[in-house]
Order: sequence, then structure tokens, then C-alpha cells
Amino acid sequence: MNLDLLIPEYVRNFEAYTPSRPDHLLQEEYGVSHLHRLNNNENTLGPPAAAVRVIADFSPDLAVVYPSGDSYDLREALSRRFDICRDRFLVTNGSCEAITSIIKAFCQQGDNIITADKTFAVYEWVAEFSGVEARLVPLRDYAYDPQGLLDRIDARTKIIFICNPNNPTGSYWTKQVLIDFLEKVGENRLVVVDEAYCEYVEDPEFPDAMELMERFPNVVSFRTFSKMYALAGLRAGYLTGTRDVVDVVRRTSVTYSVNVQAQMAAKAALSDDREHIAATRTMVKQARLFLCKVCTDLGLETVGGEGNYLMIKVPINDLLMYRRLMKRGMMVRSMTGFRFPGWIRVTLREMAVMESFAEALTEEIREIRNVRV
Ligand SMILES: *Cc1c(COP(=O)(O)O)cnc(C)c1O
Repeated sequence: MNLDLLIPEYVRNFEAYTPSRPDHLLQEEYGVSHLHRLNNNENTLGPPAAAVRVIADFSPDLAVVYPSGDSYDLREALSRRFDICRDRFLVTNGSCEAITSIIKAFCQQGDNIITADKTFAVYEWVAEFSGVEARLVPLRDYAYDPQGLLDRIDARTKIIFICNPNNPTGSYWTKQVLIDFLEKVGENRLVVVDEAYCEYVEDPEFPDAMELMERFPNVVSFRTFSKMYALAGLRAGYLTGTRDVVDVVRRTSVTYSVNVQAQMAAKAALSDDREHIAATRTMVKQARLFLCKVCTDLGLETVGGEGNYLMIKVPINDLLMYRRLMKRGMMVRSMTGFRFPGWIRVTLREMAVMESFAEALTEEIREIRNVRV
């Protein structure tokens, strides 16, 4: 059988993402009894209390029946929260599904999308395995470069993806920067603002993409229950746009992709998030302050801004650093895959874990420097 005859060229040339192996196998390999996860920006405080209750009380009877095919109750809850008509929300299997659906809905071969070169890689990956060109604009001072993006727009540009705040650098556009950009882009292509970490941001100048849709109907917002709401394992995200845009994206979304427990837990999380968000922000702020100081004392450069993560420049290859830290039970993200060779990204967590991480990092850095001298 010659599979090559069947496979489109853009799939043949695409290399599949390799997820990390289950923790129990990694623990065995690295000889540790526990792994602290600092690699995926999860919120280890756990979900808001109301969502915890819904998950704990989940009845097996509910698993028998198909979920609401359009996440009706969850959209109703979103509608009440944001004062936006429920038909302008599309709930998805994590916001990764939203990325896939919007590219499928609007792009065909020969079209292109534009984003940054060092950002969340899923925009680029989905485009490429769909036969759509991904134009990657270099970051400028670790941030999205508005003029750089504008310069790459042509007649086949369909969507521009802005990750705000950016994963992994934490940089963000203020409301004014985003509005200036939208005015220059014009109405004829979509601007997706990926707000996966917006609930972490406290700066009043930070834009809310949902508020800009009246004036700029080509704006689409992506949000997720995976990060602040700590429901990454259940997979729920949502996209908000004008009714017309959402109607089109819905055509390429698979009905029933959002399971019943995810819908229920997300709805509960939304109803009980005030204290949860405050507590999480406090934790992240404290962790950031602490870890930045540790790195400064070690003479290590850091890059961060908003979001529950910090990038650290390490004096050796980042994959080697990952392995060394794994042997100490610390799982960080090595950043070569994000086109940041020599950097790691660390999730900001409870102080006890941050202190253990700081200890591990300090010992590794000392060892590395001693060997070199
Ligand atoms: C984690 C993340 C997402 C989405 O995650 P889902 O779990 O698929 O909702 C989207 N964008 C960015 C920038 C992220 O970091």
C-alpha cells in the first residue's frame, strides 16, 4: 500500500506533535517519586469550589446520554456574565478546537494566516496541516509587532492571530495598540484575539476583545476554562464573535465535541469565580516576585509579564536543563520548540513548590558553573 498516494502534500510534510508521556513513566525514567508540573501553565489551586462540587457529584447516569449539542446552558451562563447574546458564543473542546474550526471555516489552500513566530504554536500547526500558509512575524522586544503583522497582509490573508497576553513571553497589547491595529487592518480579514490568560491580567489598559466587536465586527475572542479555571483535563473553551462570524464557524465544528461534565463544570466555575480569581492572582504575583528575585540573584535573565508563567534563560541547552530538573522532580517546559533555544518556561504556582523549584534550579546552576570553571 502506497500511503503517499493518498496523503495531501501538506500532511505528508507535517510532523505530528509528540505529547509528553504519562507521569508514572516519567517518574520511573528519571528516578523520582513525585513530579511537580511546571510545564503546562495549569492552575494547581484547582477549579472554583462550585465546579469541584459538580465534578464530585457527577452521576454516571449523565454519562449515558449525549450532552447538549450546542452547550445551551453554558452559553446561557456566558450570555448573562458578559451581557452578550447567547448565539454569539460557540463552546468548543478547549480553545484548540476553536482554532481548528475557524481556520477550516474561513481558509482554503492558497490562503494565509498571520501570527508571531514565537507564540502558541497551534495556530501555525493547524494552518500548515490544513494546507494554509502560516506567516510568522518576529516578535519585537518579546512582543507582537503590529507594523510587522500589517506588512505581511495580502489579498489571501484571512485571519490574524494575536495571543494577548502572549504565551510564552507574557507581553500584551494595550487597548490603544489593539484599536490602532484594528483600524489599520480594516474589515476584510478576521482578527482573533486569543485571551487564554486574560483572567490573570490586572492592568486597566488591557483590552477586552468582546467590547471591541461593536466597533470592529471582524474581531473574534477565544477564551478557555483550562487556565484560570483549572479545568484543562475536561476540555472546554469558547469563541465569541458577531452572530455572522459565529454562524460560519459553527458549520465546521463537530456537534457533541464538548462533553456533559465539561459543560456542567464550566458553568459552575463561571458562577463562582470571584474569590478563585483573586486567590489565583495573589498566588501568581507572589510566585513571580519570588522567582524573579531568585533568578536575579543567580544572574539569570527572565522574561515575563502577565499570565501564570515566567521564561528563564539558562546557561546550557534547554533540553539538557529540562532533563536535569526532571531528575529533581521538576517538570518545566523546554523552549526550543517555541523557537527560544536556551530558555525554559516555568508555571507560577504555590510558594512551597516555587521554593523547591528555586532550590533545584540554584543547585543545578551552581553545578553547571563549577564544571565550567
Ligand atoms: C493553553 C492555551 C490555549 C488553549 O488551551 P485549551 O486547553 O485548548 O483551551 C489557547 N491559547 C493559548 C495561548 C494557551 O496557552
